[in-house]
Amino acid sequence: MKLIVLGSGSSVPHARRASPAYWLQTHAGSILLDISADASHRSAQEGLDWANLDAIWVSHFHLDHMGGLATYLFSMKWAPQTQERTRPLKVFGARGLRSIFAAIDDSNHYNLLKQPFVIEFFEVDSGAKFDILPNVAATTLATPHTKESLALHLMENGRTSFVYTSDTGFSEELIPFAKGVDLLLMECSFRRNKPLQTHLELAEAMLLAQRCAPRTLVLTHLYPEWDGIDLAAEAKTLWPGETIEAFDGLRLDI
Ligand SMILES: [Zn+2]
Ligand SMILES: [Zn+2]
Repeated sequence: MKLIVLGSGSSVPHARRASPAYWLQTHAGSILLDISADASHRSAQEGLDWANLDAIWVSHFHLDHMGGLATYLFSMKWAPQTQERTRPLKVFGARGLRSIFAAIDDSNHYNLLKQPFVIEFFEVDSGAKFDILPNVAATTLATPHTKESLALHLMENGRTSFVYTSDTGFSEELIPFAKGVDLLLMECSFRRNKPLQTHLELAEAMLLAQRCAPRTLVLTHLYPEWDGIDLAAEAKTLWPGETIEAFDGLRLDI
């Protein structure tokens, strides 16, 4: 697997950090993990094959994580690059995803699902086990953020493991879920004195890292208060493992 960070930021507009979107390239195809309004532009900017994207994961319904779903499908509907496409696009997310999408789609009769290829929606609960792509096994876990928010665990070919927490407050349940993964992509919205219980601050993120002991930790969903701070150095004082501060354009082999 290969991870390409499209948006390492939050809902707050930022000059160097787009809103959440992560491109995951697997042997079986590509998955977009969260789809902010910036996702389609950032995919093109990184030279990625956005027209042949295979799957989309929507972790929860905050618009910094799904505000680009309708516009991405609108781009696909009208772009010359997708008119010959036949392989299906699969969209996965929590229960309720279909109706939110339909409300947008119906609001102006966009007919976003009427495309030369099939677009399938799959709604999953916490604890669901499914193949997001062939031989890429997915498991979900509810997180303390919104009522529908889900963390995602992926296992490629039974070997390479990856967890994306998306937005979450502190949860002991994340420890067994992300234990020993090759790459843990975890939110770390705030440095300290977090204003919201539904996000993580550094000490909590590093406590989870300590207990999960991933091979590599990437901290993301960074609010502007992280500007000018050496996040990786501060992380090192709390956990000796490898911590990488996400930035837009970061590419990692998993
Ligand atoms: Zn968010
Ligand atoms: Zn959120």
